[in-house]
Amino acid sequence: QDLPLAAAAAAAATTGGDAALDAFWMPFTANRQFKKSPRLLAKASGMHYWDADGREILDGCAGLWCVNAGHTRPKIVAAIQAQAAELDFAPTFQMGHPLAFELAGQITRIAPAGMGKVFFTNSGSESVETALKMALAYHRVRGEGQRTRLIGRERGYHGVNFGGISVGGIVANRKMFGAMLAGVDHIRHTHDPARNAFSVGQPAHGADFADDLERLCALHDPSTIAAVIVEPIAGSTGVLIPPQGYLQRLREICDRHGILLIFDEVITGFGRTGQPFAAQTFGVTPDLMTVAKGLTNGAVPMGAVIAKDMIHDAFMDGPEHLIEFFHGYTYSAHPLACAAGLATLQTYAEEGLLTRAQQLQGQLAERLHALRDAPNVIDVRNYGLVGGVELAPRPGEPGKRGFEVFLDCYANGVLIRTTGDTIAMSPPLIIEPAQIDQIVDTVRAALGRVA
Ligand code: PMP
Repeated sequence: QDLPLAAAAAAAATTGGDAALDAFWMPFTANRQFKKSPRLLAKASGMHYWDADGREILDGCAGLWCVNAGHTRPKIVAAIQAQAAELDFAPTFQMGHPLAFELAGQITRIAPAGMGKVFFTNSGSESVETALKMALAYHRVRGEGQRTRLIGRERGYHGVNFGGISVGGIVANRKMFGAMLAGVDHIRHTHDPARNAFSVGQPAHGADFADDLERLCALHDPSTIAAVIVEPIAGSTGVLIPPQGYLQRLREICDRHGILLIFDEVITGFGRTGQPFAAQTFGVTPDLMTVAKGLTNGAVPMGAVIAKDMIHDAFMDGPEHLIEFFHGYTYSAHPLACAAGLATLQTYAEEGLLTRAQQLQGQLAERLHALRDAPNVIDVRNYGLVGGVELAPRPGEPGKRGFEVFLDCYANGVLIRTTGDTIAMSPPLIIEPAQIDQIVDTVRAALGRVA
């Protein structure tokens, strides 16, 4: 039975090189280019990766915005190992296991007041689908089934499933895939370089962008709108910081019209802004919150929707059903993910990582904003331990300059991310001040070379 597999492994081992890289169709990657000069990460610890040749790389983006406590933390590793030996899998459809309830409880202890229910998924994308469906079903169980419209935002990133790309606002994620979800509309994004370029922290101008929601209410009739979803800080579309008063105004408009507010906190959750969630940092409580990434420190895939009690209770208030919410995943609350999540939350708390993020954000802001005189820099944006440096695109080649900066930084031992021509930094919260300097110095040198 396993002969073909063994033969394939042997063949891959002897041919080496490109043939060994052939089968994996890589996500969000220029596959052909990558396979000519692969970047393979073989090992990680704390703030660093090591590549297949043993070269050390400082992780300036917490993997993919997820490894907030740094890599291969012993407590998290041990928890996963022990759990794998104890209870490998347990269904959570009409069954349960203790860690799932414990982790849900721990999450609600750090969530905004009133957000007392947790629904587990396996990723950010699944959390988004779950939240959208929860919003639609919530209105329906309350007798407001006409509320079917969903509102997203231009430049929003909400994962890659059909609901997420429909409410999302990135054309490259949408254009190849035909019809999107029906009944979706978008408000404008808040990026306004004319008024806000080089703002430190929250930009002063742009609360008025929230009024787009009021205009859509006038256009569609608010009683047809179920929910609006935004990232408090848009990460994957270039680190867009919410203007002062913007999220508050969205909240007010939602309240006025009975619309649910969903914060996609997949990036901002678990300490990135110096509080457990950006909702607390910005002082606005949504009705539903989608999370993933930092929930398990990236060590085991897991996501969740954190819901206000009133959302959950609406499902429980009706007549008894065999199943209240027809939705879930085989791996919802997977035991290994729960073990990783519990150890992760404990690590964040024991090591005071949120306080650390608050303490270090000033240094990151100062160092980043000093890049404004570097070649091709047209904007710098920051909040908490997230930074974005936007470059003028090469004429006719959008994204190319950003990608070259990424390659140059990697060649010089620092991993950053670029989205289009924006360089994004989101280091693990355990970063040392000297490592912030190393990241920014490496970016500065790369900007010089790439120019
Ligand atoms: N929402 C946001 C705001 C994200 O940043 C991401 C991932 N970067 C997702 C959703 C999707 O998460 P995943 O890749 O785990 O599906």
